[in-house]
Amino acid sequence: HGSNLPEVNIALLGALGVGKSALTVKYITKRFISEYDPDLEDTYSKVEIFDQQEVIVRLMDTCDKEGKEPDRYLKWADAFLVVYSITSRPSFKHAQQYLDLVVQNQNQRHAGTGNSECPLILIGNKVDLERYRQVSKLEGASCAKKYQAIFFETTAAEDYQEVENIFHEVARHILREQDPS
Ligand code: GDP
Ligand code: MG
Repeated sequence: HGSNLPEVNIALLGALGVGKSALTVKYITKRFISEYDPDLEDTYSKVEIFDQQEVIVRLMDTCDKEGKEPDRYLKWADAFLVVYSITSRPSFKHAQQYLDLVVQNQNQRHAGTGNSECPLILIGNKVDLERYRQVSKLEGASCAKKYQAIFFETTAAEDYQEVENIFHEVARHILREQDPS
């Protein structure tokens, strides 16, 4: 801290192996490295310029282990990016559990206040592995609709622009919620 720049905090949630770290590293460094420490949890930040205003975009690349409290990201995040792999049906199930967890948390926090909720984003990752697809795009989209989440399919392994666009859209969305004028 110490700067007066606006900040947006985005937590990446999802099952082990879906590509949370790969998407984080891709956005932060533009690179895809094929191995990431599966147990690593860390936060990263990048300064972006939106409408001539510098903004700090922070990502929390989470890694859930038993005994770790979800409060660390539930309390921290301004938006939740829930990731599954289109090649793994179990990971799609896990994504729905994460969406439920976030929605329950919001209902508790904002009970009776009528406050706006944080943006929810559902990402179907690894579309470069189309031939191993187990979850259709339509299933992803209807799940997102159910949770009023924004939906994207993407891949951390190819085009940087696409991944960057997703994070930019999420950051702009948060900024609009923070200052709706
Ligand atoms: P995390 O546990 O969610 O952080 O998953 P990782 O980012 O560590 O990724 C798990 C494995 O999937 C790694 O071997 C990555 O290289 C690979 N991976 C992640 N994203 C993609 C992707 O979009 N396409 C492909 N082909 N592999 C990916
Ligand atoms: Mg990881």
